[in-house]
Amino acid sequence: MMNLIFLGPPGAGKGTLAARAVDILKLPHISTGAIFRSAIAAKSPLGLKVKAIIDAGKLVDDATTIELVKERLAQDDAKKGYILDGFPRTIPQAEALAGFSKVDKVVNFDLPDSPVLERLGGRRVCRKCGFNYHALFNPPKKEGVCDACGGEVYIRDDDKPEAVQKRLEVYRDQTAPLIDFYRKKGLLVDVDASPEVDKVVGNFKIALGVRQI
Ligand SMILES: [Zn+2]
Repeated sequence: MMNLIFLGPPGAGKGTLAARAVDILKLPHISTGAIFRSAIAAKSPLGLKVKAIIDAGKLVDDATTIELVKERLAQDDAKKGYILDGFPRTIPQAEALAGFSKVDKVVNFDLPDSPVLERLGGRRVCRKCGFNYHALFNPPKKEGVCDACGGEVYIRDDDKPEAVQKRLEVYRDQTAPLIDFYRKKGLLVDVDASPEVDKVVGNFKIALGVRQI
C-alpha cells in the first residue's frame, strides 16, 4: 500500500506522469477535477453545492473540497493506496488530510521557471478542431495552419507569456508552504521534471524505491 501526493508546476507534465505512475504502481489516480465532475454527475448534495460554486465562477472552498476528498478516499479502490493530484493545495487542506489518511510520500515534480515558460508559452491550438501543437517541439507544417483540418492555429489567452507567468506565480505562492510542510515531516521526494518523460519516470521509480522491471 502506498498513499502518494503529486505536486508540480503547470507544464511539468503531471498528467502524463500520473498516467505512467498508475501503470507502474497499479494505484488509482485521484484528482480533485475528477472528484468534482463525478460529484456533479451524481447530483449528491455536495455535488449540487460544487456545481453552484463552479457555475458562479468561484473556487470550491476548503471545507467542501476536504469533504469530497475524504469521501473519495474511503472508496474501495483507494484502500490499497492512491495517487492524489490537485489536493492538498493549502496548509489547512494538508492538515485535514493528515486527520483521515496517512500520506506515505509527497512527490515534488519540479521544473525551473524557464522551461515552464518555454513549454507552456509554446502551446498552440487549432481553433477549429482543437488539435494541440507546440511552436518548438511539434509545430504545424505550415505556420498558423492546422495540418489536420486547415483551421487557424493560435495561442490561447492562458498560454500567453503574462498569463503563464501569473499561473506560475500562483503555483509557487500556493505550493511553497506545502513543500516546507511535507519536507519537515520527512515525506517529500524531489524529482527533476526537466528531462524527457521516460527519464523522469525512471527517476521517479528510483526515488520511490520501486524495482526496475
Ligand atoms: Zn484543426
